Formats: sequence, structure tokens, C-alpha cells
Amino acid sequence: MKKEHFVDYVEIKVKGGKGGNGCVSFRREKYVPKGGPDGGDGGDGGNVILEGNENLMTLLDYKYKRIYKAQDGEHGKGKKMQGKKGKDLILKVPIGTVVIDKKTNRIIGEILSRNQRLNVAKGGKGGRGNVHFVSPTNRAPKICEKGEEGEEKEIILELKLISDVAIIGLPNSGKTTLLNKLTGTDAKTAPYPFTTLTPNIGVQRDSSSRRYTICDIPGIIEGASLGKGLGLKFLRHIERTKVLVVLIDGTSNSPLKDYEVLLREIKSYKPSILEKKKILVINKKDLREFKNPFKDKSIEISALKGIGIQTLREKIEELLNE
Ligand code: GDP
Ligand code: MG
Repeated sequence: MKKEHFVDYVEIKVKGGKGGNGCVSFRREKYVPKGGPDGGDGGDGGNVILEGNENLMTLLDYKYKRIYKAQDGEHGKGKKMQGKKGKDLILKVPIGTVVIDKKTNRIIGEILSRNQRLNVAKGGKGGRGNVHFVSPTNRAPKICEKGEEGEEKEIILELKLISDVAIIGLPNSGKTTLLNKLTGTDAKTAPYPFTTLTPNIGVQRDSSSRRYTICDIPGIIEGASLGKGLGLKFLRHIERTKVLVVLIDGTSNSPLKDYEVLLREIKSYKPSILEKKKILVINKKDLREFKNPFKDKSIEISALKGIGIQTLREKIEELLNE
């Protein structure tokens, strides 16, 4: 997927359909001059429902259209005929979509599996027809209820990628290059920091053809957890990842310090992330300046030249299948 097409945050307005009005009507029969009331109820308005879909990777579909309204219920009719219910509006969203009420800033729910549904705007109830208002003192009620308005909400959809594997590292450590090498995607690399502004995702199959996804998380820099860098905005994407590939540039001034900075940033954002399975990977082995203070606690690779990639891939799959 081209990263320009990756959208992980949208604000939309959802509105349930209006309930149909109840009906005031009286039976008309040939030999009965004053038939009883027979006004039917209005149908309920449709709901707006989010539904998890495993083929979607982005919220792009919701970027341009802002308002989503379900169908209104039909009005009730004579002969006790109930109005038709309004159709639900089903909005397909990627797995990992978090739904937040914009007004209260509270999480309404999360879509975590395929076909999982979440009602985000209930349709209004249909009004009752005059059959319901008969009483001993009023045998011919000319009253009915109006249908209720549908629920209306402004919601934020935020995508937390549920990527099986995430590559984290300081800017320029080679994350995007490695992702491309591992998955054959064609994300952009450039020899300067901050080339990765949105997470890139690639799909890979393991030796038994199971599909897993790998993403590369944009530059986590010193202070990212304090909101200084761009990194923080993206750290939320790794909260659900199973395996972390911690990528260190073996040609930097101090790979050891880079490692500490990286882990400190993640820790101050959310310590539990560090409890995940981690693979320490030292990159740029093809260069003369390469040094590896971590020795056999790590895997040495050259993402650019493809050195050590197979070993890394096997390790990833081993941890995923544990
Ligand atoms: P990111 O910011 O972590 O995504 O890093 P990139 O993948 O964009 O790589 C940053 C720079 O390092 C690019 O110029 C890459 O070509 C280069 N690079 C990445 N991996 C290697 C490697 O194994 N060896 C060498 N020599 N250069 C690499
Ligand atoms: Mg990059």
C-alpha cells in the first residue's frame, strides 16, 4: 500500500434514522358507521453500525465523506399496518478501529475482530398509532405519537494497527529498508531522518503459508513520549503487536546509547510495551564503521544488502508461533 493512502484518524458524523410517525385512522366497514381506531405504529429508524472487515487497512474511505445517516422508518398506516423499519447503515472499518465520542472524549468501543459490530447511532423509535390510545373515556382517540429522532453523534475513528510484527528504531536506522526486504513492499527510503511519516505495512507468509503483517513505525526520537517528536503519535500502533524488532544502526556514534534512548522513550510512553517479545537487530553490517556491542544477544544484518535476513525471518516466525 502506498503510504499516502494510509489514513489512521478521521472525524465523522453519524445519525440514526428517524422513527416513522404513528397513524390516526379508523376502520371503515360497510355496515359499521363508526369503526374503531386502527392506526398502525411507525417503523423504527435504522441504526448506524460499524463492522470489522479484515480486508481494510485504512480509514481512507471516511476521509472525504463526513456525514452518515441511516434510513428513516416509514409512517404507520391504517388497518393497523406498521411502517417499515429503516434500513441499518453498515460502515465497514478495519480491524483495530477505536471509536471515540468527540464530545465526551470517551471510548465508545473498539472493533477487534472481523464482522464484529458496534452500534454507533441508534435509530429513533417509531411512534405508536391511535390503536394504542383507546380508553374507556375515549373510544375514538385522534392521537398518535410522532417518531423519535435518531441518535446523532460526532465520532472519531482512530486506527490502531494490529500488526503482528513492528519494527522500531531511531530515524535512519533502516526500518523501511528492512520492511521492504522482509516483505517485498516498496515503501520510500531516504538518507535522512523522518522519511517515515506514517507506518508502512507489509504482508508476509510464514513457512506454513500463514499470513502475518509487519509494520515500520516512524522515527521514535528522544522526547517522543513527551510529544516532542512524531514518534508518540505512532507508538499507539505497537500496543497490540506481538513481536518487536528493535532495530539499531550499527554505524551510529553509539549503538548502545541509541538502544537506551529508544527503550527509554517507549518505556515512558507505556512500559507494558516492553514486555513484548523482542528481537534485537543491528543493521548496516555491510559498512566498515559497523560495530555491535550486543554481540550474541542480537542478530546482525544488512537490510540493504540482504545479509542475515533469512535468520531474522526465521526468528520472527519462531516467536510468532510460540
Ligand atoms: P528509517 O528511517 O529507519 O526508515 O531508515 P531507512 O530505511 O529510510 O534507511 C535510512 C538510510 O540508511 C537509507 O539511505 C538506506 O539506504 C540506508 N540503509 C538502510 N539499511 C542499510 C544497510 O544495511 N546498509 C547500508 N549501507 N545502508 C542502509
Ligand atoms: Mg523509514
